[in-house]
Amino acid sequence: MSETISIIVPSYNEEKSIPFFYEAICAEREKFKQIDVELELIFVDDGSKDRTLDVVKELHGRDGQVHYISFSRNFGKEAGIYAGLEHATGDYLVLMDADLQDPPSYLMEMYKAIKEEGYDSVATRRVDRKGEPVIRSFFARQFYKLMNQISNTEIVDGARDYRLMTRQMADAILSMKEYNRFTKGIYGWVGFRTKWLEYQNVERVAGETKWSFWKLFKYSLEGIMAF
Ligand code: UDP
Ligand code: MG
Repeated sequence: MSETISIIVPSYNEEKSIPFFYEAICAEREKFKQIDVELELIFVDDGSKDRTLDVVKELHGRDGQVHYISFSRNFGKEAGIYAGLEHATGDYLVLMDADLQDPPSYLMEMYKAIKEEGYDSVATRRVDRKGEPVIRSFFARQFYKLMNQISNTEIVDGARDYRLMTRQMADAILSMKEYNRFTKGIYGWVGFRTKWLEYQNVERVAGETKWSFWKLFKYSLEGIMAF
């Protein structure tokens, strides 16, 4: 029987990015077909104010591998990740941003590391913050430094949420029921054998970042409180 990888895509005001993202995933899907692996997409519309939901519904209408969850308001990316993991039925699960900052071309390498090298997850980390406002980079660095001083759980600077994992690891993450979720910490906390891939920062394909400085600051406090 063929295996399925569920791709979970938290999406907030991404009407401009999703068509590019979908196209890039379709290209990967062809490669995976050749090794008898299916890719399914689960968009989580996080209360978008633009046409994100319409775009996603349209894709759902013409592509049986596209599914979606729609939130009643904007709950934040963490809620999107959780809902996506909860609803995905694949043998493997991967989290990806809608803006192509998580290159789909790595998917095959990630899958092979799990299948052939025996890892439970393959995580990604960007080695620079090119294209990001200087002040944001500065505070991000300070945040990771502080986190690693006060917490026993390793929280990797530059780690992205982009990660492919086994069903078993996803279930471990789902068993953590906290409300104010800090997934970067939860990944480390649950353990499992993880391989790290590194790459240069890629700028978003369209639209703008959804994180204001203030939103990130509040999120960092959640990370500190949780870990
Ligand atoms: N996102 C979301 N809810 C939010 C904010 C962001 O689902 O409240 C999604 C967003 O659509 C994108 C991903 O989370 O797919 C990462 O957001 P963004 O690219 O804006 O963050 P950055 O790359 O600037 O850190
Ligand atoms: Mg982004």
